[in-house]
Amino acid sequence: MRKEGVKQDLLASVHFLIPPVCMLCGRVLVKGRNCGEELLHLQICSSCLSQFPVRFSKDRWFPCLSDPYEEDPLPDLAVWTLFHYEAPVSTLLRKMKFHSKKYCGVLIGELIGREFPSDVPFRWDAVIPVPLSEKRLEARGFNQAEVLAKGLSEHLGVPLCNNVIRKIKHTKQQSRFTEPSRRTENVKGAFAVDEKWDITGWNILLVDDILTTGATLHEAAKILHENGAGRVFGAVAATHRENTEN
Ligand SMILES: [Zn+2]
Repeated sequence: MRKEGVKQDLLASVHFLIPPVCMLCGRVLVKGRNCGEELLHLQICSSCLSQFPVRFSKDRWFPCLSDPYEEDPLPDLAVWTLFHYEAPVSTLLRKMKFHSKKYCGVLIGELIGREFPSDVPFRWDAVIPVPLSEKRLEARGFNQAEVLAKGLSEHLGVPLCNNVIRKIKHTKQQSRFTEPSRRTENVKGAFAVDEKWDITGWNILLVDDILTTGATLHEAAKILHENGAGRVFGAVAATHRENTEN
C-alpha cells in the first residue's frame, strides 16, 4: 500500500515538474478536470477528443475498391474505418507519417481498437499491417500501419504479425497518383508472403492508415488469398470516401 502511495507521489511530482499536455491544443492535462485517467496517458483532452470526426456505425464499412472492375478476384473485400479523413484526425495521421510523430498514431490506434466490432461470427487469427519497403521503413523509422495495428491487436486479443507479408518492390508514393488505374499499376506485385509462414485458413485483419482507392489493401489481400488465407478484411483509421450504399 505504502509502495503504491510512493509511486503516486512520484508520478505527481513528475507531472508537477513536467505537466502532461494535450497533443492538439497544448493545454495542461488535469485528471478529472479536462481528461480522464486514460486520456492523460494518451495525451489528449476531452474537448479535443470530442471534435474527432467519428463516422456513424452504419457508415463504417466500405467495399475496398473505389473503382471496382468486373474480373476482380476479391469483389467482396470489405474495409472498416472509424473516422472521416478530416481534422484533427487527418492532421494527426499526417504528423505521424511525415513528421515521425509516432505518439499521434498510438492515440488513433487505441481509438480504433476500442471501436472495432468485437462480435464477428468467427475467430481472427492475425492482425497484419500493410508493410513498407525496407527503404521507406529506414527513412521513417517505423511503419505507421503497424502502430495502428497494435491498438487493434491489443483490443481484440489477436496476435500482431508484422512479418507475414513483405514488400518486395519499392513503389512510388500512392499520393502521387489520382487515377485508380495508376495506383493499381503502382502496387502490382509489390507484396509477398514470407515463406516461413503457413497461413492456410487464417482469418486476417489487414491494417493500413488511410483508404483512398483501396488499391494497396486490395493487392495485399490478394497475396494473402493466393497463399491460402481464409477470411480477409481490411481496417483503416480514416477515409475521405463516402458510403454510396447507404
Ligand atoms: Zn486538447
